[in-house]
Amino acid sequence: MRVLITGGAGFIGANLCAYLTGFPGVRAVVALDDLSTGDAANLAGTSAEFVEGSILDRPLVAELVAAADTVVHLAARPSVPMSLADPVASHEVNASGTLNVLEACRRNGMHVILASSSSVYGDIAMSPKHEDLATRPLSPYGASKLAAEAYALAYGTAFEVPVLPLRFFNVYGPLQSAEHAYAAVVPAFVDAALRGEPVTVFGDGEQTRDFTYVGTVVRVLADAAWRRVVSDTPVNLAYGSRVTVNELAVMLGEVLGTPLVTRHIAARIGDVRHSQAACERLTRLFPNVDPVPLADGLKHTVAWFDRTLNSVGNV
Ligand code: NAD
Repeated sequence: MRVLITGGAGFIGANLCAYLTGFPGVRAVVALDDLSTGDAANLAGTSAEFVEGSILDRPLVAELVAAADTVVHLAARPSVPMSLADPVASHEVNASGTLNVLEACRRNGMHVILASSSSVYGDIAMSPKHEDLATRPLSPYGASKLAAEAYALAYGTAFEVPVLPLRFFNVYGPLQSAEHAYAAVVPAFVDAALRGEPVTVFGDGEQTRDFTYVGTVVRVLADAAWRRVVSDTPVNLAYGSRVTVNELAVMLGEVLGTPLVTRHIAARIGDVRHSQAACERLTRLFPNVDPVPLADGLKHTVAWFDRTLNSVGNV
């Protein structure tokens, strides 16, 4: 099997490249990435072939898709704040870029797994969020992800493209960047705590998140690629945990052996209050994947940040 991973030099993409290196039956892994938020160094130690380029380059996408057996489409402008700063750029990459990938898949009858997001639900009150709920994105990012999964489902219906649209929730783990202004909560907390700095909490910290360790996500993606899993509805990729940001800070303090010092600032525009997945569809499609518990995932994540900070400090 030859797997094309768009966004392959990013956090989730590079973890998937590493997991697929040595996966029985995988002959080649190709990572297409424009390095806008990813880093080619993330692919060190994997056997992935790196192609620097954009999903907006249609001839390039067509060539790479034609040479693959399955596509995992992760490339995106991946955050709410980026989409608030430049909504059109988010639309171009996340919606139009996805359309380019789907067009190439249509011409090749290619199986494609794609990353949508829990942000499509917006702030609808019902929890956990099951996939049949109405969608109400609060940000251009959420709207662009909804467009991407809607196109995927339409290509499945209209052209019989084998598609699997997965709604990722809060994924965390090694290789996740803490370095930019839009860092996700786990890397931001771990990085600050290891540097002995206070961690910044947006709002009162009682907002809840459904955290999924990246090792669990890549197992689902690899299994989906290997068995060519398809779905004619979106599928949540999270296991239904409900953890407040304040609780996360306490758990990280326990892993680190010292309580975190927190600093509260105003809540962010576009952030949802509660985010928890219904996971029945996921567990029915992937009965063999056991999610890594949060406490274990946090230990792996802290260990990776610790090693990275120490090696930077030793240069
Ligand atoms: P990431 O930023 O690390 O990865 C995205 C990758 O896409 C980056 O390497 C970036 O350089 C690349 N990219 C951006 N524009 C591109 C383009 N035009 N052409 C080619 N490559 C391009 O983010 P991630 O957390 O690994 O996210 C992967 C996917 O999962 C994204 O689609 C994101 O929207 C989705 N997602 C992630 C989370 C999460 O918690 N991490 C939650 C919901 C959805």
